[in-house]
Amino acid sequence: MLAYIGLGSNLNNPKQQIKRALLALDNTQDIKVVALSSLYQSPPIDGSKQPDYLNAVCKVDTHLSALELLKVCQVIEAQQHRAREKKWGARTIDLDIITYGVQVIASKQLIVPHPEMMNRAFVLLPLAEIEPTFKVPILGSIQTLIDKLDTSGLIKL
Ligand code: AMP
Repeated sequence: MLAYIGLGSNLNNPKQQIKRALLALDNTQDIKVVALSSLYQSPPIDGSKQPDYLNAVCKVDTHLSALELLKVCQVIEAQQHRAREKKWGARTIDLDIITYGVQVIASKQLIVPHPEMMNRAFVLLPLAEIEPTFKVPILGSIQTLIDKLDTSGLIKL
C-alpha cells in the first residue's frame, strides 16, 4: 500500500528530528520510504509565540494496515520524546497519516484522509511536490485544494 505521512517539528533541532523520524520509519519492517519532499518552514498555525515549524511529507510503501502504521508513527513520536502540553503546543515531532491508498477511514483512533489536510499548506505543498497530479480520496485534485488556500506563509527551504 502507498501512504503519505506528514512530519512536523519545531523543537530541539527540527531538521534533525525530521531526519531521525524518517530513518526510524524506513528502518521499520514492512515500511519503505520511497519519496520525500523538501523541507518547508511555516509559522505556528495559532499565531502563538513558539518557534516556526519545519514540515515535510514522505511517501511510504508498506505492508502494514493503516492502524499498524499509526501505531508505528506513535512509537516514533514517543521515542523522540514528543513533549506536548496543549493541542497546538510546540512539539519535537509530529507524524500524521495524510492518506493511506484510496482508503477512507473514520474510526476513533484514525481519520484518513487526514481531516485537516485541506487547511494546511504545509501538508498540501510538500505532497504536491512529490505527487503533482495526486487525487486525494473524497477531496479531489491536490492542485484544486492548493488553489483554495493561502500558501503565502510557507517557505520552501
Ligand atoms: P496529533 O496531535 O495530531 O498528533 O493527534 C494525535 C491523535 O490524532 C491520536 O490520538 C490519533 O489517534 C489521532 N488521529 C486521527 N487521525 C489521525 C491521522 N490521520 N494521523 C495521525 N493521527 C491521527
